[in-house]
Amino acid sequence: MAAVDVRYDEPEVRVTPPGPLARAVIAKSAAVMSPSCHSEFPLVMERGEGVWVWDVDGNRFLDLFAGIAVSAAGHNHPAVIAAVQAQVEKFLHAGGADVHYAVMADLAEALARLGPGKGRKRVLFTNSGTESVEAAIKLARYHTARPAVIAFYGAFHGRTAGSLALTASRSRYRRHMGPFMAEVYHAPFGDPDGVQRLLDHVVHPDDVAAIVVEPIQGEGGYRFSPDGFLAALRSIADHHGILLIADEVQSGLGRTGRMWAVEHWGVAPDILVTSKGLAAGIPLGALIAPEEIMTWPPGSHGSTAAGNPLACAAALAVLELVEGGLVDHAARAGKVLLDGVRELAARHRMLQNPRGLGLMVGVDVVDDEGRASPTRRNALVQEFFQAGLLAIGAGNATLRFSPPLVISEHEIAAGLRVIDRVFGRHKG
Ligand code: PMP
Repeated sequence: MAAVDVRYDEPEVRVTPPGPLARAVIAKSAAVMSPSCHSEFPLVMERGEGVWVWDVDGNRFLDLFAGIAVSAAGHNHPAVIAAVQAQVEKFLHAGGADVHYAVMADLAEALARLGPGKGRKRVLFTNSGTESVEAAIKLARYHTARPAVIAFYGAFHGRTAGSLALTASRSRYRRHMGPFMAEVYHAPFGDPDGVQRLLDHVVHPDDVAAIVVEPIQGEGGYRFSPDGFLAALRSIADHHGILLIADEVQSGLGRTGRMWAVEHWGVAPDILVTSKGLAAGIPLGALIAPEEIMTWPPGSHGSTAAGNPLACAAALAVLELVEGGLVDHAARAGKVLLDGVRELAARHRMLQNPRGLGLMVGVDVVDDEGRASPTRRNALVQEFFQAGLLAIGAGNATLRFSPPLVISEHEIAAGLRVIDRVFGRHKG
């Protein structure tokens, strides 16, 4: 599948953002929205097309963040729009927990087929990443009749009450929010011995329902599972009858150049959760698990809008695009992007440790003494924005690039040029 047509060579910043129209919207939001909502940069989006985003003042930005790894097929992909429009004219809601409709059954069939590992799978729909994690915790507890869950430092699994107990990327997400769901234990990411120590000293394996892991920590800083880590978790889990849950909310659906990131390490989890890019931004999450594990009875879990028909229609179109070529494209384009970021890091000392799989690319920002510098990283995010490039941070001092999977080499080159220009203004 070819990427979308290249029609622009560069971002175009006509009015220093935020311009007057953007400032009015931002002022209104600031007056009436919850202050807990944090914005990465003062973008007020007007429309999007492929990897390009326009703000209300007519500025054109190159989007290397995709609404945090969501817009896989690019903004307003015609096939996705057509699928949603066709569904809009039929019905908007039916209550997927109570009645049936074809787009939901079709999507469940597609995801069950795509689920990792052998055997027949079943699918549960949710509305978000965090809800998929909640559902995974409940299913693991139900199936094993055990209470405890092991997660990892640096993990981000969501912000609702259950998933927040697992999230350990920043203590400020948890500040004044406790007490948390009981029986959650954390081990160092990448260190299976840390899990073994928990099982030896802190929580008996007979009490552990699940180990929950992001194969690539997203919010935690684009940290990749070291080789052997996931395989070691798999064998610990198998040995003790613990379920291995992969949170692929950020890393899944083709982003890393494979359908699921776990495939890079040849490990199949028992339960996989996905969301973000699944329905091109229409809220939808899913949990995929083997038939033998999805043993909970009717009524034991569900949600009013989960599996919304518009979201399912969009997701079917997205999956067709992802399977129809975007996975392979992400692998190829990701190499080009990573090579480019490596080349920048070779010339600019403030960029260290470029890393990536497919279109999940990260690089750390350091100060003049070589220490990780969140201040400088945050300043760069704003400078990129002023120059017409959308990219956000992750972890302590990492810049992350997670563009729409349709990004072309031409557009990657445009992004690298903007970054280089911004760095040209710094000494490093
Ligand atoms: N898991 C991971 C790995 C994520 O990256 C995120 C979102 N950043 C979530 C869960 C939570 O997803 P949502 O924001 O849709 O609740």
